[in-house]
Amino acid sequence: MDIQSYIKTQKEFFNSNQTKDVDYRIKQLKKLKSILKANEPKLYDAIYADFGKSEFETYMTELGLMYQEIDRFIKKIKSWSKPKRVSTGLINFPARSYIMPEPLGSVLVIGAWNYPYQLSLVPAISAIAAGNTVILKPSEMPVQTSAIIAKLINENFPPEFFQVIEGGVNETTELLKHRFDKIFFTGSTKVGKIIYQAAAKHLTPVTLELGGKSPSFVLADADIKTTAKRLVWAKFLNAGQTCVAPDYVLVEKKIEKALLEAIQTEIDQHYKSTPQSLETNYMQIINETNFDRLQPYLNGNEIYCGGVSDRETRFISPTVLNHITFEDAIMQDEIFGPILPVITFENLDEVIQKVKAKQKPLSLYIYSKNRNTIKKILHEISFGGGAINDSMMHLSNSKLPFGGVGYSGMGSYHGKAGFDTFSHFKSILDKPFWLELSFKYAPYSDKKKKWIRWFVE
Ligand code: NAD
Repeated sequence: MDIQSYIKTQKEFFNSNQTKDVDYRIKQLKKLKSILKANEPKLYDAIYADFGKSEFETYMTELGLMYQEIDRFIKKIKSWSKPKRVSTGLINFPARSYIMPEPLGSVLVIGAWNYPYQLSLVPAISAIAAGNTVILKPSEMPVQTSAIIAKLINENFPPEFFQVIEGGVNETTELLKHRFDKIFFTGSTKVGKIIYQAAAKHLTPVTLELGGKSPSFVLADADIKTTAKRLVWAKFLNAGQTCVAPDYVLVEKKIEKALLEAIQTEIDQHYKSTPQSLETNYMQIINETNFDRLQPYLNGNEIYCGGVSDRETRFISPTVLNHITFEDAIMQDEIFGPILPVITFENLDEVIQKVKAKQKPLSLYIYSKNRNTIKKILHEISFGGGAINDSMMHLSNSKLPFGGVGYSGMGSYHGKAGFDTFSHFKSILDKPFWLELSFKYAPYSDKKKKWIRWFVE
C-alpha cells in the first residue's frame, strides 16, 4: 500500500467508530504490552547494534517508561473518557452541561532517534488510549530500532488502525502533504518549524516536542557531592544525547572548584575514559555526522576533564569544560552530546537575565537549599519543566505533563496530558423541552432587559 492508501483506510476505520469503544482501546494496549514484553531481547539487540545502549539503560529509560504509561492508561481510560459534568448557569435553567472527550481521528506521530523506542511509542500509546488511529514514522537514524518497531507493529496490528511507515526526509515530506487530525512531532526546533508549516496548510493541530539549551543552576548552599552525582548521571546518560539533559552548568563562583572536583570524582567512579567503556555502561554517539558536529567543542575550549574521543567507535568520553562564557560557540546551540560547559557567576540577577535572553529552554534545574532563591528562578524564567535538586527525573512522574514552551515546543504528554493531547473536548448543553423562558426573544422591552440582568448578574 502507498501512503495515500494507508491514510485513507485509517480514516475509514476511524469513521467505523470501533476505536471509540474503550474496551477496544484497552485490548490494543494490552496487546502492545505483551508484544513488547515477548520481544524484549530483540529490542535490546537492535538498540545495542545502533548505538551501544545497554539492556539496563534500555529498560530504565525506554521499556520501563512505556510499560508504566500503558498500565496507567489501562487503569484510567474509562474514567478519563467519560463526559464530565460542569455547572450550568441560571440562564439555561433547567439544562445540564457536560464536557465530552472524543478522539481527534487519524494521527501522525513522528519520532526522534535519541530514545527511539519511547519517543515513538509513548505518543502512539497516548493516541491509541484516546481512541485514535495512528501512523508512526520513527526516526530513520537508528536503523535497527526503526526496523524492529516497524516489524513488531506491522505484523501484529491491522494497517487501518496502527501502521509504522519507515523512512527519512522524503517519506516524512510525503506524509506531511496529507491531512491528519493531529501531528505529534519530537525532534529539533529546525524541523519543528517545517512540521508546523506543513500542518498549517490543513489547519492540523500539532504538538511539538523540541529541544534547546537546558541550564542547571548550582547555588553556593547546594550539597555539592549530591549535586555532582545527579548532574553527572543526567548529563552522561545516553552519552548526553537527551533532550532534557543539563546542557550547561551555572555555578556560583565561590564553589566552582569544589563542584568541578566533585564532578570529576563522580565521572571517574562511573565511567572510563576509553572506548572500552562502550562495552558496558556508556553509549556511542549516534553517527559520524553527530560525532563531527561535537568534535570542534573539544578543541579551542578549556577541558577540565575528559576530552578523549575516537571516531572509529564514535566515542567521546564524559567531558567537562571550564572558564566558559555565554559568548562561546558551545553556548549558541544545543550540545546534545557528553560535553558539559561550566559557567561561573557572582550575581544571580545578572545570570538570570543572560538565560532569559536565550530561547525558552525545555528544562531547567536548580540545586540549592534556599527556598527564596529557588522561587525567584522559577518565577523569573520560563521553561518547559524541571526539577529542584535533581535533573531529568521529573520525566519519570507521569502525573507531570511533559513538554516545552516557545522554541522548546508546544503541547505536552505523559499520562493524562497525553490523553488530552490526542482528544477534543466537546462542550454540550443538554436541555429538555418542558420550559422555555421568553425574555431572550424579540420584541425586546425594558422588563425583559431587567430579567436578563437578573439572570446574568
Ligand atoms: P530531527 O528534527 O532531525 O528529526 C526528527 C524527525 O524528523 C525524524 O523522524 C526525521 O526523520 C524527521 N525529519 C528530519 N528532517 C526532516 C525534514 N526536513 N522534513 C520532515 N521531517 C524531517 O531531530 P533528531 O536529530 O531526531 O532529534 C534531536 C533533537 O530532538 C534535539 O534537538 C532534541 O533536543 C530534540 N528532542 C526533543 C525531545 C522532547 O521530548 N522534547 C525528545 C528527544 C529529542
